[in-house]
Amino acid sequence: MQNGVVVKLTDQEELIELAANAGRIVALTGAGISTESGIPDYRGPNGVWATQKPPTLGDYESNEEARINFWRFRRESYPIMLARQPNKGHLALAALERAGKLLGVITQNIDGLHQKAGNDPGRVVELHGTTHEIRCIPNGHRFSGIDIQARLEAGEVDPHCVICGGVLRSATILFGEPLPKPALDHAVAMSQITDFMLIVGTSLVVNPAAQLPIVAQRNGAKLAIVNREPTPLDDKVDLVVRGDAGSTLSALVDGLAIGNPVP
Ligand code: NAD
Repeated sequence: MQNGVVVKLTDQEELIELAANAGRIVALTGAGISTESGIPDYRGPNGVWATQKPPTLGDYESNEEARINFWRFRRESYPIMLARQPNKGHLALAALERAGKLLGVITQNIDGLHQKAGNDPGRVVELHGTTHEIRCIPNGHRFSGIDIQARLEAGEVDPHCVICGGVLRSATILFGEPLPKPALDHAVAMSQITDFMLIVGTSLVVNPAAQLPIVAQRNGAKLAIVNREPTPLDDKVDLVVRGDAGSTLSALVDGLAIGNPVP
């Protein structure tokens, strides 16, 4: 019972049946799919929401101290992020794509693990950007995370753009910032044409990502949620599997008999 509404929790067999009958699956993923790779989520029990809330764009641009803090944290954390590997959940989605069952992935994650798992980068929509790219704010010049990491490790504390001198930032969305229109348009288009949205590891409280399942449902798609905790959409979807992303998605791939998710 959730908010007075009975939510039907299901087992994996029903999930497999729904996926087997689907032609164009789209996955909508959140931080929960990457916790089994050692990257903490935001709002789960061990999430970083309370302790490391990122700055707003306004803070970041105008406040050198906020930037120095950001780059100091990044200097320590980016090598750890780079070393993270896709887990069984990511690998299962890559296997679904190789088998021609998965149209693409819409992710709120910034970690690049879907691409690392083997999903075609052209089919991964990164709604909240990526931590693997750095951009200058005034002109959008782009640099790889690895290049900027080398500058941080060489001692720079607030690196600026080598082309125009502008303030640099991670290509991830900050609080108070709109999502990039091309990514959002792509995500909406995928949500409109899917016949089965597989929603994995997201608390579904961040808009507009949380609206995409509604778009898919209005266009006739079935919806399934795989999450450890309840979400606000549990009583509106066709299936809810309350469990871990890794074991649930690899059981799905096994059940569909489309091969071992581990390449
Ligand atoms: P969230 O932290 O709000 O919610 C994650 C949900 O996943 C929780 O409900 C939790 O119970 C569930 N969960 C955790 N581990 C799971 C597992 N192994 N299997 C199944 N469910 C699991 O995440 P969100 O909805 O994606 O929103 C957080 C925002 O923070 C996003 O916008 C994202 O950009 C950003 N973020 C990204 C990363 C990343 O890139 N890996 C990590 C933290 C935060």
